[in-house]
Amino acid sequence: MTTLRLILGDQLDHEMASLRDVDAARDVVMLCEVAAETGYVKHHKKKIAFLFSAMRHFAAELAGRGLNVRYTRLDDAGNVGSFTGEVARAVKETGATRIVTVFPGEYRVLGEMKGWAAALGVPVDIREDDRFLTTPAAFAGWAHGRKSLRMEFFYREMRRQYNVLMNGHEPEGGEWNYDAENRKFPPDGGLFIPRPSWTEPDEVTREVMALVAARFDDHFGDVEPFYFAVTRAQALEVLEKFITERLPLFGDYQDAMVQGQPWMYHSHISFYLNCGLLRPLEVVQAAEAAYRAGKAPLNAAEGFIRQVMGWREYVRGVYWLRMPEYVEENFLQAKRKLPWFYWDTQTDMNCLRQCVIETRQNAYAHHIQRLMVLGNFALLAGIDPAQVNEWYLIVYADAYEWVELPNVSGMILFADGGYLASKPYAAGGAYIDKMSDYCKNCSYNVKEKTGATACPFNYLYWDFMIRNREKLGNNPRLGMTYRTLDAMEATKIGDIQESSRNFLKDL
Ligand SMILES: Cc1cc2nc3c(=O)[nH]c(=O)nc-3n(C[C@H](O)[C@H](O)[C@H](O)COP(=O)(O)OP(=O)(O)OC[C@H]3O[C@@H](n4cnc5c(N)ncnc54)[C@H](O)[C@@H]3O)c2cc1C
Ligand code: SF4
Repeated sequence: MTTLRLILGDQLDHEMASLRDVDAARDVVMLCEVAAETGYVKHHKKKIAFLFSAMRHFAAELAGRGLNVRYTRLDDAGNVGSFTGEVARAVKETGATRIVTVFPGEYRVLGEMKGWAAALGVPVDIREDDRFLTTPAAFAGWAHGRKSLRMEFFYREMRRQYNVLMNGHEPEGGEWNYDAENRKFPPDGGLFIPRPSWTEPDEVTREVMALVAARFDDHFGDVEPFYFAVTRAQALEVLEKFITERLPLFGDYQDAMVQGQPWMYHSHISFYLNCGLLRPLEVVQAAEAAYRAGKAPLNAAEGFIRQVMGWREYVRGVYWLRMPEYVEENFLQAKRKLPWFYWDTQTDMNCLRQCVIETRQNAYAHHIQRLMVLGNFALLAGIDPAQVNEWYLIVYADAYEWVELPNVSGMILFADGGYLASKPYAAGGAYIDKMSDYCKNCSYNVKEKTGATACPFNYLYWDFMIRNREKLGNNPRLGMTYRTLDAMEATKIGDIQESSRNFLKDL
C-alpha cells in the first residue's frame, strides 16, 4: 500500500506533519514545479529561482535520507502543469492508495485539494500545518465575538502561551511592547550597517537561474545577482548572523529608511520562514536567548519577537478566518489603476523610486518601505486593492497569499473597513522625511503643502481624508485629524483639492 506524500514549495521542512510517519520502503514523496503556480501571477524572477532551487535542494536531502522521491521539474516531459494534474498522474503511476499532505498557504489551493478524494478515488489526509504557533481554529476561537481584532491582545496571549519574554505572569521588563523606543533615525555621519548574508549560487541554483532567464524573461525583477540561502543549513547561518550582527540595533532603527541601504538591521528571514527552511519558534527563541545572554537589548528582542509571534501569526489567522470574502473587500471603493512606475521605477518621487528600484533588484523591501512609502501612496491615491494585491504578491520573494493579502488589504489599504487595523496607516511627507533621507534627493519639496513642487504625500493625505470622510469621519483614532481639517480655511482646502486633482490626473 503506497502513500503519496505531497510536499508543496513552501513546505520544505523535514519535520512537516506529512513526513512524520513516512514509510521509506513503500511511500512516495512528491514535489512538483508547475506552470499554474508560476503563471497565475507573474512572480519576480528571483522568487521563482529561489523557490525552485530550494525545492530541488530539499528533494535531494529527502533522497539522501533514503526516501523515495518523485520530483517533477517544470520542463520535464509529461509535466501537466498543475497540482491537481500532477497528483493525478502520480497516483496513477505509483498506484498510491492514499494521499497525505499539509494545509496549503492559499485558499485557492485548499479548494483544489478538497476535490482530490472524489476525483481520484483515494482518501486525502490534509494535516494541520503545525509549523505555525497557532491554528486557524484556535485563532477563530480567540476572535469569536470580537467585532474588530487587535494584534496587541493576540500577541500577549501568544507570549503567555509559549512563555516567551515572560517573568512569571508579567512581561519581561514590565511592558508588553517597547515600540516607542524603536523609531530612531541614524545619526549624522551614519551608522555601520553589517553586510547582508550572501550565499553564492551553486550548480543547482545556476541551472534554475538559466531556466528562469529562458522561461520567465518577461517577468518583473532581476535574477542576478542571486544571493539567497536555498537550504536549511544556509538559512540557519543567515539567522545566526542576524542574531549576532543586526539584532542589537534592530529595534532602534526598525522604522528607518536610508537611501542605498535596502537591508538595514532587519533579519531578511521571511523568505526562509515562509517556505519552511526556518521555523518561527526557533527564531523567536534565538532572539530571546540573545536578550537573556545580554547580547541584545529588550526593545530589540521584543520588537523582533512581536513581528514573528504577533504579526505573522495574526495575519495568518485573519486570512483563514475571512477568506474567501477577504479577497473582494474594498471598503473605501478605491478604483484607480496601479501607476506604471510601480513596475518601471519612473517617477520623480524619490522615496517611491528608491523603494521600487530596490524591490526590483532584491525581491525585498523592508516593512516600513512596504507600509509607509509604497503602501501609503497606494492608499492615498485610491488604487484598486486587486491591483495592489497582485503587485505585492508578484514582487516579493516572501509573498504568499496568506501573508500578503491581510497586509495589503487590511494593513495598508483599510479595504476591510478596520477589521485588522484600527485606523488607516496614512501619512504625509513629514513622516517619510523624519524616518528617511529620501527627501534630500527629491525633486519635490517636503516642506511645501500644495502646488506643483510640493510633496504629493502632503496634499494627497488631506485629500484622502476629505474624500473618505463619510467612511472614516467617525473613527475615534482619526478624531484629531478631522478636527484639524475642520479648522482649515476654505482656500487651503481648495488648494489641496486642486493640487490633488492635477497630480492624480497625470498618474
Ligand atoms: C503591504 C505589505 C505587504 C507585505 N507582504 C508580505 C509578504 O508577502 N510576506 C511576508 O512574509 N511579509 C510581508 N509583509 C510583512 C513584512 O514587511 C515582511 O515580513 C518583512 O519586511 C520581511 O523582511 P524581514 O524578514 O527582514 O523582516 P523583519 O523586519 O526582520 O521582521 C522579522 C519577521 O517578522 C515577520 N513579520 C514582520 N512583520 C510582519 C507582518 N506585518 N506580517 C507578517 N509577518 C511579519 C516576518 O516573518 C519577518 O521575517 C508585508 C508588509 C506590508 C506592509
Ligand atoms: S519629498 Fe515627498 S515624494 Fe519626495 S521623497 Fe520626500 S516624501 Fe517622497
